[in-house]
Amino acid sequence: MFADVILPLALPKRTYTYSVPESVASLLQPGVRVEVQFGRSKRYSGLVARVHHEKPDYEVKPILSVLDEVTVVTAQQFRLWDWISDYYCCTLGEVMSAALPGHLKLTSETKLVFNKAFGDGFMELDADEYLIAEALQIQQEIIVEDARKILNKKTVFPVIQRLLNKGVLFLREDLQEKFKPRKVTAVRLAEPYREQPDLLREVFKELSGKERQVEILMAYLALEKRQPFVLKQDVLTKADVSESSLNTLVKKGILEKYDREVSRISGYEDELVEADELSPQQVRAIRELRQLFQDDPEVTPEAPDSAAETTKVGSPKKVILLHGVTGSGKTRVYVELMREVIKQGGQVLYLLPEIALTTQIISRLQKVFGGEVAVYHSKINTQERVEVWKSAVAGKPVILAARSGLFLPFQNLKLVIVDEEHDSSFKQYDPAPRYHARDTAIFLASLYGAKTLLGTATPSLETWHNTLTGKFGLVKMPERFGGLELPEIQTIDLREQMKNRQMQSIFSTQLLESLQSALDKGEQAILFQNRRGYAPILECEVCGWNAMCRHCDVSLTYHMHTHRLRCHYCGYVQEPVKICPACGSGKITFKGFGTEKIEDELKIFLPNARIGRMDLDTAGTKSNLTALLNDFEERRLDILVGTQMVTKGLDFDNVALVGVLGADALTKFPDFRSGERAFQLLTQVAGRAGRKNKQGRVLIQAFDPRHPVVQEVLNGDFLGFVDRELKERLEFKYPPFYRLINLELRHKEPKVVNEAAAFYAKALRAKLGDRVLGPVIPNIARIRNYFGQNIMLKLEKSAPLLSGTKALIRHTTEIMLGRPGLSQVQVAVDVDPA
Ligand code: ADP
Ligand code: ZN
Ligand code: ZN
Repeated sequence: MFADVILPLALPKRTYTYSVPESVASLLQPGVRVEVQFGRSKRYSGLVARVHHEKPDYEVKPILSVLDEVTVVTAQQFRLWDWISDYYCCTLGEVMSAALPGHLKLTSETKLVFNKAFGDGFMELDADEYLIAEALQIQQEIIVEDARKILNKKTVFPVIQRLLNKGVLFLREDLQEKFKPRKVTAVRLAEPYREQPDLLREVFKELSGKERQVEILMAYLALEKRQPFVLKQDVLTKADVSESSLNTLVKKGILEKYDREVSRISGYEDELVEADELSPQQVRAIRELRQLFQDDPEVTPEAPDSAAETTKVGSPKKVILLHGVTGSGKTRVYVELMREVIKQGGQVLYLLPEIALTTQIISRLQKVFGGEVAVYHSKINTQERVEVWKSAVAGKPVILAARSGLFLPFQNLKLVIVDEEHDSSFKQYDPAPRYHARDTAIFLASLYGAKTLLGTATPSLETWHNTLTGKFGLVKMPERFGGLELPEIQTIDLREQMKNRQMQSIFSTQLLESLQSALDKGEQAILFQNRRGYAPILECEVCGWNAMCRHCDVSLTYHMHTHRLRCHYCGYVQEPVKICPACGSGKITFKGFGTEKIEDELKIFLPNARIGRMDLDTAGTKSNLTALLNDFEERRLDILVGTQMVTKGLDFDNVALVGVLGADALTKFPDFRSGERAFQLLTQVAGRAGRKNKQGRVLIQAFDPRHPVVQEVLNGDFLGFVDRELKERLEFKYPPFYRLINLELRHKEPKVVNEAAAFYAKALRAKLGDRVLGPVIPNIARIRNYFGQNIMLKLEKSAPLLSGTKALIRHTTEIMLGRPGLSQVQVAVDVDPA
């Protein structure tokens, strides 16, 4: 017997064949993992794709052991992997590496760490397990190959797997992910009232005439009846008072605040809350969605755009776009559709961009679905990952996930929701597979006969085009929930402001005044700037020298907090210079501004404001994202300064003002998508303004406020925007009318990469003619000491052309790598670049 095995490596062949020894034959089936040798000595856990009797005409190695009793990968998952590897032009091994969670991937180099919490349950271990546990206890950390030597046996993976299952050890990479429970501020009655609520009667008497405090107490008591614990924020919202009124009651010893940990994953202990009553707009949207999703034989089956060539599964309007303005209440609509699926025993996959997967959305869903929700993203730790993986197999009704959630082993998937479908972070860039989660989701859904719902206030042009051609259904929610008006947007002409000396540093007087007046009213504000750090350029005023990265052709960004210059591409760090290394002058200045500088300067102009900053630098480190968002939500901060993170699906109810510091950087970015991105970002960030009580205001500073995109945002003119943009896309042969494939070649020597790219482009051009553009040097010629050359393909939409081109790319890569001196050139293929 033989088995075809997928290895977690970027190998040219789809699978590799191994022989099956008698001893393991009975355990072997597609979907289980096996221990195999590849290369001279390395071992890997590979996945069995097929078992057969076709003896290859070369000598094959035997399978060393079988790791699983039951399959870890389902037939549908295999089909998804195949589709990804085919559509996105990568190897099956690369897909496997991305798809399987860490604990299912072992190699001889995997680091093992002793689990101190295991204690001394050594008695329950068998002889092999004991030996390794002992070695680990002494050395704390060993690699799998060490373990094999300790046992002096042919195979070791099964023992490791058993120790993993028994909790004796961890994999090193897993340990680094720390799990922090979320803390919320809750409120309860202080003693003695907690034990003797009767005493409250006296309190009410004392408080007579103090309306606010009475209201708070009433609000608290009402909430307490329905909930196991009461969130401070809920009391404030219900009583519609400020925190200071609550503090008075705390000082009087009537109420007290305390911290409460809330689990993020499972074990939701709180009582469920009835979902809100639907608004008329929501009722209509749900009715339309149901009608469109219904299998209507009149409509011909359609597949998603990028899956069109391979998907034939499916029935009418399998995909619908829910185009609802910010604050229209799309989430509540999702909840309704999810309920229906759950009632019928189906599963829902709810995808969000990683960064939008905050506790806000998690708790909104948990309030309704409780423990039926599992959460899957890159910040959860291994145990949780294992838990979610298992729960997907067991039919967990709702999985809320970042794009990697696509790879879970669903049993009965019925609905996939892709929220914020326009978000470019749904596209994975590095490493391969370079897949788009939205398009992959549509294919995944088709495998299960499930429906896909795409939701956003700012649809991508691809999706919009698909609604125009009738491939996707379209349901609109043009109004904000509760009749709230969309924010009033104004532009501020920076050129004029400068001329009239109305600028204070990077702030127009109007922006500063509006901020101040919001502060005076106890309202909050968000400031958006699409650049982190303090200043992106450190420049000599005399000779024009500026600080560049040693490894990349980009300027270094100054970070004030660490007082360092940092490369945002490779992470290189150095101390800032005071003397120009080129001319010796001391006139070194900062150019441009990032979020850090904005935060810093705001403190000067608005000394009393409590300011928080949300960008990659703060979200990753000490004040992590959750804490920051809690602080803002619970009004411990007045102003939130941030990069595009602040645009992603956050729902605050006290933001009166949103300021965009410089729109030009968005509209003028040299990329065919810059118009689309600018429209989306500006509309989304504007949407954070004025969500509950009243209309919000948005101020957009720009040197070119008359730019068409800025005007379209200003007028909320989505149709005008897509109309203009689609015309340009058609004229210049861009998506959604043409399909792009980017090829990026890299090598340490410019000469080598130039030669490779010239050869490559010529080979492609011979077959594809002027569909081939380039090679050109990319905007950043060198990253991490690798020089790049880019080739772009613009293909008409045709399935044979696409598959022919992919075959050509594979073939050309092989030939190119076979040429003298070019074997080390790296080729990255990016299908449908975002
Ligand atoms: P979107 O995702 O479309 O931008 P949200 O789903 O965040 O909008 O809803 C906007 C606000 O309206 C949220 O604060 C939400 O709690 C509230 N909301 C939406 N639907 C309802 C409803 N049916 N009843 C009460 N509040 C609602
Ligand atoms: Zn100089
Ligand atoms: Zn660099």
